[in-house]
Amino acid sequence: MIRMRSLLIVLLLAAVAVSGVFAGGQQASDAPLVGIAMPTQSSQRWIDDGNNMRNILIERGFRVDLQYAEDSIDAQISQLENMITRGANVLVIASIDGESLTNVLELANRNNIPVIAYDRLIRNSPYVSYYATFDNFLVGVLQAQSLVDALNLEGGAGPFNIELFAGSPDDNNSHFFFNGAMSVLQPFIDNGQLVVRSGQTDFAQVATLRWDGATAQQRMDNLLAAHYTAARVDAVLSPYDGLSIGILSALRSAGYGTSARPWPIVSGQDAELPSVKSILAGEQNSTIFKDTRVLAQRAVNMVEAVLAGRSAEVNDTTTYDNGVKVVPSFLEHPVTVDITNWEEVLVGSGYYTREQILN
Ligand code: BGC
Repeated sequence: MIRMRSLLIVLLLAAVAVSGVFAGGQQASDAPLVGIAMPTQSSQRWIDDGNNMRNILIERGFRVDLQYAEDSIDAQISQLENMITRGANVLVIASIDGESLTNVLELANRNNIPVIAYDRLIRNSPYVSYYATFDNFLVGVLQAQSLVDALNLEGGAGPFNIELFAGSPDDNNSHFFFNGAMSVLQPFIDNGQLVVRSGQTDFAQVATLRWDGATAQQRMDNLLAAHYTAARVDAVLSPYDGLSIGILSALRSAGYGTSARPWPIVSGQDAELPSVKSILAGEQNSTIFKDTRVLAQRAVNMVEAVLAGRSAEVNDTTTYDNGVKVVPSFLEHPVTVDITNWEEVLVGSGYYTREQILN
């Protein structure tokens, strides 16, 4: 009886396994293998990017090896080495440190494996075929513009106190975000409508290694203690929702978020759920929505093109010089989200349900 039952279970499992393969898009064991290296699961956006890409690729008959390196540069390099050893036919990489993949990309090239840079540019290598990303300079412009609008700087209001944060210095995007933002903010700093009381306006002073929210919180704590015991901070340029959460925590500890001390205007990026909720609660002012479904689709198109020996569609061939070559890129469009349009943009596009945001 027991043997009979185990036999049934074995047969059942075999049936499930077979149907799993076919339901997954009829992957043959010799279907092309796509290695996807993602930076971390500590932020929902990368989980969505990875899942979106994997689902589209499986639907189209590819095999997928999706790995997350939890922000360890060494782990990402060894994951890539493993993918190469497993016989990956193409690599899609969102790097942790855009400058540290030169050797492993050389190995990929020796094995004739094309590489697509995903969202973050890979620097110092000739072996990057394409780059799928958003218009990163525009992201910074939009972040800064949300502060300018909320403070009515174009209407002449001010002076206001502002502090600046940037992303991880080893992420090429961080420089684009910051430069984009400063292209909008600098004139208001120059004419005195914005005042940076800390005096910290250089990228190196305001960068946040590994995009770490706790590091941003600590820096905001220090800024508040050193420069804002008497004065009030009116705005904070934050380049990423995970940093904004840390910054808002520091502000809360210093008594902001009350009627006596209303929140300063704080920006963000990625439209991550906790930050969208924070916008609805009147804390964070805005975020930048970058539809990971669109970017995943774009990267998959590039995968198909390189494997077929065709050229992929690009819309920028001048901006992204990685130190060795200008990488042909497709820049998708970022959108500002705030209290006025979250429903239309995030729910209307089917990215989130109303319940996810309101619960
Ligand atoms: C991405 C952003 C993200 C940041 C932190 C950047 O490279 O472009 O969307 O907020 O990394 O994960």
